[in-house]
Amino acid sequence: VKQAGRNGVAFFDLTMEAAIRQRHQMQLDLAAAIDAGELRLYLQPQVDTRNRIVGAEALLRWQRADGTLVPPGAFIPLAEETGLILPLGRWVLHEAARLLQQWQSDARLRPLRLAINVSPRQFREPDFAQQVLAAVRDRAVSPDRLELEITESVFLDDIDTARGVLRTLDDAGVALALDDFGTGYSSLAYLAELPFDVIKIDQRFVARLQNPTRQDEAIVATILALGRRLRMQVLAEGVETAAQEAYLLTHGCHLLQGYRFGRPMPREQFEALVLGQPDE
Ligand code: C2E
Ligand code: CA
Ligand code: CA
Ligand code: CA
Repeated sequence: VKQAGRNGVAFFDLTMEAAIRQRHQMQLDLAAAIDAGELRLYLQPQVDTRNRIVGAEALLRWQRADGTLVPPGAFIPLAEETGLILPLGRWVLHEAARLLQQWQSDARLRPLRLAINVSPRQFREPDFAQQVLAAVRDRAVSPDRLELEITESVFLDDIDTARGVLRTLDDAGVALALDDFGTGYSSLAYLAELPFDVIKIDQRFVARLQNPTRQDEAIVATILALGRRLRMQVLAEGVETAAQEAYLLTHGCHLLQGYRFGRPMPREQFEALVLGQPDE
């Protein structure tokens, strides 16, 4: 490496090299983390219009040996690029099936639905649907307790294959949610023929409801109307305030998720929250 400081180029090289080395190290650490049992599923409550918890979204956390908790934004993109997302996604799937199996033995946890995030690369694996169905079958879990959150990007390159995979899963009873709706390129024409059970309004639209313009209101109203027409439930994510909640409920949103109802939390804490709800 050249002497730093002469023209700035050497400094740039050093920084690049350090960044590449750091990235490589993270890749090694992440691969080891799966085997070392450092991955955790945090659960964030999803509530119905009466504020009762009906399920959870599982959000991945990497708890490093020193105790620090790494959020998914810091490692999922790298996992996507390197292919590590495949073993990682399989871990999430099996962990979710294991959790659902445990919930089945408790009458108050049994009705809960658990949603997991599926990365586009994972979805495109030729045997993806078979992996999902095998995971629920091996744990003797009712498939309709599991929900897969899928983003619109999986339809970009091959809509026919994607539709086939979704139909296989839907036929088997697995619940399907369209994640981050409104941020991609979804064509309403094909949304109508895809077997989604839930449309998740992206949190950026929900954030704007705090102080909405007429356009903001129109977007959310349109998504809610679309859900009604297509007989899909609409879930709003990122709900933080009473004003957002009130707006969404008045306009017919079915399900809500966000800090207002609970942050992503360890599984024990989530279960205690559900068990502490007053009986119907
Ligand atoms: P996402 O699927 O859109 O998940 C929602 C994100 O919003 C989560 O961030 C959640 O903690 C955060 N959030 C929830 N409620 C609120 C709120 O009221 N206000 C605000 N400001 N944020 C809220 P998180 O856990 O950091 O996850 C980020 C992203 O990482 C997820 O976005 C998802 O795309 C990805 N991800 C997480 N777990 C997995 C996984 O197991 N597999 C894959 N492939 N991706 C995952
Ligand atoms: Ca999600
Ligand atoms: Ca369905
Ligand atoms: Ca989302």
